[in-house]
Amino acid sequence: MYKEKIRAYLDAHREEMIEDIKALVRIDSARTEAKEGMPFGEGPAAALAEGCRILEKHGFAPVNYDNYAIDARYNNKELQLDVLAHLDVVPAGEGWTVTEPFEPVVIDGKIYGRGTCDDKGPAMAAVYALLAIRDLGIELKKDVRLILGADEECGSSDIDYYFKKNSHAPMAISPDAEFPLIFIEKGSLHTSFEATLTPSEALPKVVSVKSGLKVNVVPAKAEAVVKGMSVEKLVPYCQKLEKELGVTVELTAGSPETESSLAGAEKRGLVSVLVKGTSAHAASPMDGNNALTALLQLIASLPLAESSSFEMLRKVSRLFPHGDYHGAGLGVNHEDEISGKLTLTLDIFNMDETKLGGLFDCRACISANDENTRQVVYRRFEEAGFTHDNRPMGKPHYVPKESELVRTLLESYTKITGRVEEPLAIGGGTYVHGIENGVACGCGDLNVDTHMHGPDEFVIVEQLLMSAEIFADAFMKLCGVEE
Ligand SMILES: [Zn+2]
Repeated sequence: MYKEKIRAYLDAHREEMIEDIKALVRIDSARTEAKEGMPFGEGPAAALAEGCRILEKHGFAPVNYDNYAIDARYNNKELQLDVLAHLDVVPAGEGWTVTEPFEPVVIDGKIYGRGTCDDKGPAMAAVYALLAIRDLGIELKKDVRLILGADEECGSSDIDYYFKKNSHAPMAISPDAEFPLIFIEKGSLHTSFEATLTPSEALPKVVSVKSGLKVNVVPAKAEAVVKGMSVEKLVPYCQKLEKELGVTVELTAGSPETESSLAGAEKRGLVSVLVKGTSAHAASPMDGNNALTALLQLIASLPLAESSSFEMLRKVSRLFPHGDYHGAGLGVNHEDEISGKLTLTLDIFNMDETKLGGLFDCRACISANDENTRQVVYRRFEEAGFTHDNRPMGKPHYVPKESELVRTLLESYTKITGRVEEPLAIGGGTYVHGIENGVACGCGDLNVDTHMHGPDEFVIVEQLLMSAEIFADAFMKLCGVEE
């Protein structure tokens, strides 16, 4: 019965909400150098100050926690729910066409500007949900606490600081993701491995291997330099690889670029082998075609002279077989009904005549743990003669589908949108990762690319109003309403 009233309230306050969001977006709140009393620099502190001003204007009594975060209680009753959003942004970047990043404009029902969808708009959607409840005279039995941080984009130290000074509410949501909600954030294992090599003069041999830019990106290119094998002799092996794996291989005699320090005579007999595949985010490596593991498979198939480097390269290829995106080569291809399959991808690898080393990205399903994953991986490396960095595993984050929080949020989502959708499992971590009984919920729609973190970031006003409706409905259900 409140549904129509809340919608009408939000429609009546649409322009005011847009103005509040614009005021926040006009502040460049990307992290800069720390200053006295401003742990993330001037911009994030200014955004928190503006957040306080807006909350005070609406009758809240916000508290600023040393410019890490601000909070505001709704009714000071027994605390039931934390709502975590953030007022910092990623840097403006290049390529804006609709407007300047910090000069927000509304065009065709969209607000453009840095931070509109991540996360200043969603923060205000939560605020207006509370305002609608209050101004319609609805009494919540328990309290909602709004927490707005200033360091989500650079490691979430804001929230760590805040919760050192405050205890948690029994439940938490963060409107900094997608609807309907994220109930699983996979665990992680990012490990490097190394081996020392004995230089060998025996030919043919691989002189060097180079691939990868970032540990969370499946490499689109991988390059090796081979010595003692002609282009003609390499061609059939490369053609076979191209046919089997769908990559392309370019061969260049002389290898002028990677071995530019070599004198002319030494360059002779060198061939550069460049494999091109397709890049992808490490959270979904199956969307790409890993050039690095393809190159390693190619090398393992060549008739090279025996040496420690050839032996170790073959071992790396066996541990990270091409097309294995789930850790089978390392014996950790776990999966479970709740969170699906573990993903694992070798994303960085380098070799020269004396050493080799690599880095992989593993997103672990919730059934993967220290014993059945981390320890297994490290044992495989040790057995194969590699050293590793012995890093601990990042724990997965999970709130059961059957929990009151998840059930209620899904119910509210369906009630307002008419859509029935399954909660999402993702490979990354959100603002509530590690917060017990916390889920990321809204305000994005998976079918709309809002250019988050890119140029021309926008948020759809209607989407925010609908988000506020969903939040209002959920707040009333989770906190209870006085009759
Ligand atoms: Zn965000």
